[in-house]
Amino acid sequence: MIGDPVRRIVIVGGGTAGWMAAAALAKVIGALPGLTIELVESDEIGTVGVGEATIPQINLFNQLLEIDEAEFVSRTQATYKLGIEFRDWTRLGHRYIHPFGFYGVDMGGIEFHHHWLKGRSLGDDSELDDYSLAAVAARQGRFSHPRPDQPKSPLARIAYAFQFDAALYARFLRSRAEAGGVRRTEGRVVDAEQDGESGFVRALHLADDRRVEGDLFIDCSGFRALLIGQTLGVGFEDWSRWLPCDRALAVACESGEDRRPLTRSTARPAGWQWRIPLQHRTGNGYVYSSAHVSDDAAAATLLGSLDGAALGDPRALRFRAGHRREAWNRNVVALGLAGGFLEPLESTSIHLVQTGIARLLTLFPTLAFDPAEIARYNALTVQEYVDIRDFLVLHYKATERDDSEFWNYCRTLEPPPALAEKLAMFRSNGRVFREQHELFTETSWLSVMVGQGIAAGGYHPAADLLADDETLARLGHIRGVVEHTASLLPTQQQWIRQLGAG
Ligand code: FAD
Repeated sequence: MIGDPVRRIVIVGGGTAGWMAAAALAKVIGALPGLTIELVESDEIGTVGVGEATIPQINLFNQLLEIDEAEFVSRTQATYKLGIEFRDWTRLGHRYIHPFGFYGVDMGGIEFHHHWLKGRSLGDDSELDDYSLAAVAARQGRFSHPRPDQPKSPLARIAYAFQFDAALYARFLRSRAEAGGVRRTEGRVVDAEQDGESGFVRALHLADDRRVEGDLFIDCSGFRALLIGQTLGVGFEDWSRWLPCDRALAVACESGEDRRPLTRSTARPAGWQWRIPLQHRTGNGYVYSSAHVSDDAAAATLLGSLDGAALGDPRALRFRAGHRREAWNRNVVALGLAGGFLEPLESTSIHLVQTGIARLLTLFPTLAFDPAEIARYNALTVQEYVDIRDFLVLHYKATERDDSEFWNYCRTLEPPPALAEKLAMFRSNGRVFREQHELFTETSWLSVMVGQGIAAGGYHPAADLLADDETLARLGHIRGVVEHTASLLPTQQQWIRQLGAG
């Protein structure tokens, strides 16, 4: 009856999204009386199987599930990540790090970067990276957890994420979800049965004629978008004019020398290549625009720039940047690739799954499926996609590269309005701001704007309250503290060994 509790949750798909949803729902609401959670997946179809780099918010998800970090790192062959190194994005031969965390310390109530900008105007040529412990430690291959017990040290607030094997991660979550009471059903969904009047999904039909009934369906079927797209016909908002990359080739290779706790993104003639070092191998992929390079040429570029021997043939993936116009429609909520896709340039897909689950838990429905709650869920989801899209577009728009048709297209594209405003405000007086609930912080915006060579025309007038000599002395002091703190940290390999996870 309308208003009665949802009793039967059915998750379609057992990729990262499906098992994250299953594990989290089992943990948070699994004990509700009469509630069942069933996950249907097809081994025959398989998963995308890429998706190895994350952002620090993954720690919140792990905490929710009470995951022990040593077990997690060991079971998923994970490494640590302190940021992303961007190579050749601004111009060939250039590199910078987008670190997690923050730069320097605010002084006189003014954000640190205004003092740095002032220092630059006085002839100081230090890089912004020199003021980030995450960036400096990552450059040296070092790692540590934050030390809140040392509040004056930059180590107090260092932030970190993981790079892991996506298939092992899904397996790990599966074991936790099943231990929490989730039932797994192996089978291929061939059809969905809808209520004639409301269009609500009532049951899935499997290839062997089994029927799986549910009250709430979570579509984690990947790019197929079985329920949200095929059954309910919810449209797709296409953003390829801003993010023209539409294919990827992914291949793992033997581990190389560079074991620094960093994801690397190297700009290529028609896109960019990721490099994600795990404990047992390195993940690689070339994300490219099929309008600007052939699949064969992309494969040659990828295979010609690996750390070691490829472990198999490259896997081809096709996608479109954008999202479902409604992530929640009737009694179906789409998570993961079924809900949308933004290229992995800033490792945001797993995070989007996580926030989708968190929103679903916050607005968990009754059988009334209140339209106002669904509308709120959808509005929040779209805004999150828009914010991330703008941050990704920044990387492409702010480039000096003019060595290929692809980069000429990106450099000259008309940015979305909110991004145009952010760029204009930084260009005039170095102002950096973050929308209300936006994922990426001022540090992130600053690091990519500065990293990609956007010049600030000025700095906050109050930075001049510090005498010039004093500004330069303090900048030097902060750099010294950051460098010294980093030099005392263990290497990432030592850290993982100490943890007993490698
Ligand atoms: P999938 O992994 O495709 O899983 C779909 C599931 O649905 C499978 O279990 C499949 O068997 C099942 N299924 C489909 N059809 C049926 C059917 N008819 N019957 C039964 N079952 C069915 N994310 C990050 O956070 N960091 C990254 O670095 C990153 N890199 C990426 C690189 C690329 C090139 C791509 C394409 C994605 C990347 N992602 C990354 C995204 C990440 O891979 C996905 O967000 C994540 O794996 C979630 O995928 P999924 O579970 O939605 O889909």
